Amino acid sequence: MKRRLPIIGYRAWAPQAEPLRLIGVVKAVEWDPGEVVATCKVPGAHKLGRSHSAPAVDCACGLHAYYTLEQVELDAGLPRGESLYGGLTPRPVRILGAVVGWGRMVMCVDGWRAQYARPVALAYEERSAPLGRRIGGEYGVPVVARENLERVAQEFGERYIRAGYAV
Ligand SMILES: [Zn+2]
Repeated sequence: MKRRLPIIGYRAWAPQAEPLRLIGVVKAVEWDPGEVVATCKVPGAHKLGRSHSAPAVDCACGLHAYYTLEQVELDAGLPRGESLYGGLTPRPVRILGAVVGWGRMVMCVDGWRAQYARPVALAYEERSAPLGRRIGGEYGVPVVARENLERVAQEFGERYIRAGYAV
């Protein structure tokens, strides 16, 4: 589907210090500051003669984001409504973010895959505050408290609404 307005999504990254970058936590894709363009790096996709521009409906490529911030936390096993990264098991330091996607979009059950995307706001846990602030500056996006992330995101895009209900 083609959308004129960017669609809001949420995702998590691991922060990298040198150089300052957001690195995807599911796949270690580096998100450069600003607009990111999807390319298909799915193993085997090209060997099978399935070279294509990303995202493709029958592939897994594209820039991924969930529809809701809650789903990011559920997927990462993060506690909800508590300290973002609390719990008994040490986890990689993560940064949560609101992103917008546009261009060619594949709308999936829990989120979307986009041709173009960029972060629009970040939230970080207290112990990664210095790095979080530096990354926010590098990317030129506001760094906000987790509870404000969704409100800020709405200034940059629209929520995806399907089957008559808002996600
Ligand atoms: Zn692909």
